[in-house]
Amino acid sequence: MKFYLQVYGCQMNVYEAGIIRQILNRAGIEETENESAADVLLMITCSVRKHAEMRALGRLRMFSAQKKNDPKKIIGVLGCMAQRLGEELISEHDVDLVVGPDNYSVIPELIKKLQNGDAPGTVLSLTGECYSDIYPVAQNHATATVIAMRGCSNFCSYCIVPYVKGPERSRPLKNILLEIKQLIDKGIKEITLLGQNILAYKNDGIDFVALLRSVSEINGLKRVRFLTSHPKDLNEKVLAAIRSLPHLCPQLHLPLQSGSNRILELMNRHYTREEYLDKVTMARDLIPDLSLTTDIIVGFPTETEEDFNATLDVVAKVKFDFAYMFKFSPRPGTKAADFTPPVPPAEASRRLSELIKIQNQITLDSNRAMIGKEYELLIEAKSPRGKGSLGRTRHGKVVILDEPFTPGNLVNVMITEIRGWTPVGKIIRR
Ligand code: SF4
Repeated sequence: MKFYLQVYGCQMNVYEAGIIRQILNRAGIEETENESAADVLLMITCSVRKHAEMRALGRLRMFSAQKKNDPKKIIGVLGCMAQRLGEELISEHDVDLVVGPDNYSVIPELIKKLQNGDAPGTVLSLTGECYSDIYPVAQNHATATVIAMRGCSNFCSYCIVPYVKGPERSRPLKNILLEIKQLIDKGIKEITLLGQNILAYKNDGIDFVALLRSVSEINGLKRVRFLTSHPKDLNEKVLAAIRSLPHLCPQLHLPLQSGSNRILELMNRHYTREEYLDKVTMARDLIPDLSLTTDIIVGFPTETEEDFNATLDVVAKVKFDFAYMFKFSPRPGTKAADFTPPVPPAEASRRLSELIKIQNQITLDSNRAMIGKEYELLIEAKSPRGKGSLGRTRHGKVVILDEPFTPGNLVNVMITEIRGWTPVGKIIRR
């Protein structure tokens, strides 16, 4: 039997796709990249924004069309959107199995039951599952993500994650270390530790800094990053660890979301703009070459021009190396979905365009500032165009090389120019 897996969403979903692959492989179900040859068409999906769900539903219509030609095919939706929409996916979208983020282990059994004539069904219990002893296959030859925490207990008013992934829980240290050692044996050089709120890691008396210390001591590992850091939990101890531990990359993703204190309170973010700016100052004092990235939402309900300008003001003050910027997307079931008045869509679009224009210039300036400087690059892939390669600096910047290199190689480069948005490097040491 063969399955095809379509993956949508964040790095967490890419990682969870690896868990699903492992579970199905163990049950003797092989993956195929050819969906018409698959007996089971699966999709792991995201629910964070409406747009992501619409895209997934569009793809589901393509799966259904295949099933019309071959009614024996099984269609499954997995992950956050499965958890949020549940039965509706069966009644309205022709899906056979709907499995939430904590229930992937039952997929092989459900497939067997469906083949034996059982009716379509859902498994959506939030059990606190950590998949601690399931080690997904590495995603590429140079870098890999490893989940340290699952779920979230912060309940930011706009966010669906606590409802679809359940409360935050941390994976045991021994499983995280074992998974990283296995990845290093396969040639992986860089690990990104993942958690919705990774700074809150706690398992059996081990906190996040102790986790970082243990990971950084693993032989053969060259780089460690982590995602995502909630500003309220960032402290001097974490920053000192980034500065002093071997292999920790000088990079921090610190979602701002808004620069207005009124909006931050409505978002239930538990920090003010002043506290955020103080943490940025503390971080840059301790780690002067720190690369800082962020997430920003514009058009949150009730956001005024003054609130929006407060966000632009923080963006101008901090000068983020990069930002993921979005318009507010109401998620049914979250508190913010009922907040009024909404910002008219055209006005939200205008604010987003203005923000993107300002941040893009800052990103470009930060890339241009790399020209003439030397960086260590970990080669991650062939460049999509041409014969060269793509690598990443310790600060998380992608660099183009015109020479081909095998993924996993560490080389030293000098940045010579910016091509479009991307710095271009010339080898100075192999
Ligand atoms: S910290 Fe807030 S935005 Fe991030 S996953 Fe948790 S609830 Fe969502």
